[in-house]
Amino acid sequence: MAHCILRIALDTPLNAVFDYRWACEPGQEPLVGQLALVPFARREVVGLIVAIAQESEVAEDKLKDALAVRSQLAPLSAQWLALAGFAADYYQRPLGEVALPGLPKNLRVLTTVALDRAIKKLGKLEAPHDPTPAGMPVLNPAQQAAADCIGSATGFQPALLYGVTGSGKTEVYLQACAQVLARDPAAQILILVPEINLTPQLEGNIRARFPGLMLATLHSSLSEGERMLHWLAAHEGKARIVLGTRLSILASLPRLQLIVIDEEHDPSYKQQEGLRYSARDLAVWRAWQLRIPIVLGSATPSLESWHHAQSGRYRLLELRERAVQQAVLPTVKLIDLERDKPRDGLSANLLAALRQRMARGEQSLLFLNRRGYAPVICCESCGWVSECKRCTAHMVLHRPEHRLRCHHCSLELRIPRHCPDCGNVDLQPVGRGTQRIEEALQQMFPEARILRIDADSTRRKGSAQQAFDTVHRGEVDILIGTQMVAKGHDFKKLTLVGILNPDAALFSQDYRASERLFAQLMQVAGRAGRAAQKEGGSPSEVLIQTRYARHPLYGAVVAHDFDHFASALLAERAQADLPPYLFQALLRAEAAELAVALDFLRAARACTAHEGITVNEPIPMSMTRVHNVERAQLLVESASRPALQAFLKEWTAALRALKTRVKWSLEVDPLDI
Ligand code: ADP
Ligand code: ZN
Ligand code: ZN
Repeated sequence: MAHCILRIALDTPLNAVFDYRWACEPGQEPLVGQLALVPFARREVVGLIVAIAQESEVAEDKLKDALAVRSQLAPLSAQWLALAGFAADYYQRPLGEVALPGLPKNLRVLTTVALDRAIKKLGKLEAPHDPTPAGMPVLNPAQQAAADCIGSATGFQPALLYGVTGSGKTEVYLQACAQVLARDPAAQILILVPEINLTPQLEGNIRARFPGLMLATLHSSLSEGERMLHWLAAHEGKARIVLGTRLSILASLPRLQLIVIDEEHDPSYKQQEGLRYSARDLAVWRAWQLRIPIVLGSATPSLESWHHAQSGRYRLLELRERAVQQAVLPTVKLIDLERDKPRDGLSANLLAALRQRMARGEQSLLFLNRRGYAPVICCESCGWVSECKRCTAHMVLHRPEHRLRCHHCSLELRIPRHCPDCGNVDLQPVGRGTQRIEEALQQMFPEARILRIDADSTRRKGSAQQAFDTVHRGEVDILIGTQMVAKGHDFKKLTLVGILNPDAALFSQDYRASERLFAQLMQVAGRAGRAAQKEGGSPSEVLIQTRYARHPLYGAVVAHDFDHFASALLAERAQADLPPYLFQALLRAEAAELAVALDFLRAARACTAHEGITVNEPIPMSMTRVHNVERAQLLVESASRPALQAFLKEWTAALRALKTRVKWSLEVDPLDI
């Protein structure tokens, strides 16, 4: 029988495609973009066909046969392959490592029969009838202008939707979607949100607005069966709106006509391990590739996007006011902890405000971005502190669970009864986490309904959603939470936000810390006062407890002044030669001993020299040890992105050739350095 050669990308760190033989008559060859099952390293794996050839350079006796081609599945489009190819090139990874992990596992592991069955199940799904959008509220003029601008855009038109919290950005997205769907009944739209916890709220809004329209969600908490079905619905063009977290940027969407990135500034769009891509940046590339509009929405845009809006590369759409009439931005006040000494972490002013909200039957939110009971316990007589023996980090006290936990390697220990060094039985918790604040509030307000929402309280699947529902139903008086509660949620009965411990970020070494802190404070402040203010009622409030009440960052938060704050930060960045005026990549190395990691980085530094590229000295990472691995990093910088890209391509090839046992990884456009 005649055969052809399938050139196949596999999910391995080896930067190569692999040839396999496939028996078929001429003219019957599989298609590029189809998946094939092949033997690899004594396993059967699924790979992506990237080319079909007649001859291979691999010796005849070394050439293996492909086992099956998933021909029941439409091939991934040339455009999708180009997207994966771009991501692979840009982030300096092999194509297979980019293209394959994003596919639903079931596509890779299911037998042909099971795959056929899954595909049939999708055929059976009700054919969506053309939806007439329901319950469209009348937009205010600023919203209408923004929705029209996005909805009527053709070609590549990136827009930054800069709208204060509660300004009704969601409504703008939905009506822009309605316009796109009205124009092209087969259009697909991709909507990205930073957090899985925000999908149910938006999903509800979309379903209510477009009854009968097929909506698919893609995020990490789907079961494999669901993920497969949703992915297929998108791939076959049936799902018209795809709503997902960052991983959905690589979904196959043959009729994509609009991309929406909500909360575009959010660091969660950056994948922090494996392929460290920015879903936002890939989304912009994808929109450019397809010549379609894209909208990036935020109340506190990233400086990168703000810079593009200022320079005219992105169109700036502004919503300056809250959408609900009589819902005004909350008053932000600083509580100077030098004057108002806190009791159990809570100042008298904040306690009075909480009491007032309880009396009025309104909700309050206390925001503290630190879970656990106390970040460390210590012995006052000898100075022992609870350190993780595997990491450069403290063991965090989790009192309800009776445990010390390391948040970096998840080591767990029982709480020691006495100091391991001197035997002192009086070990003290130092500092406060959400559990400790919860305990203090329970004692001070025994009658209050108090709910804590953080990663610990929401470990069970579905429990986060249940907790948010409880808040929405008004069954909570005081909500305590970490950043999980800060983003996006539309809590209607909330009129007070207390921010407990934001000062640490003011003195961080990370040059992005103030940008992040500002965004976080504005986001969490924006949870207050989202419903119309009651007749004669007082405006909602945000109280920030600080020891640095005169710090200009807080001044900008009090004034709700993103514009000036962002301009000032951009000016600083320009002066200090930092992103977005400079492009960076970070090489990280891990070894049992720091010296080995540093040696590797020195060798990496020595194997190159390039004009216009600065390769800095290797340094230990600020958290040097995690899980008994010691880590170092080396920063590469250039004023030119193309120059940096060209350099990285050569350099990664040279690094691969170094054949070291040190584990290394390269991150392009790093966020944490
Ligand atoms: P953002 O995402 O900008 O913070 P949302 O989209 O959550 O704001 O909108 C805030 C609130 O305003 C929501 O409850 C929404 O239903 C309401 N809203 C938005 N647009 C309008 C409008 N044109 N008329 C009345 N209410 C609106
Ligand atoms: Zn001691
Ligand atoms: Zn640890």
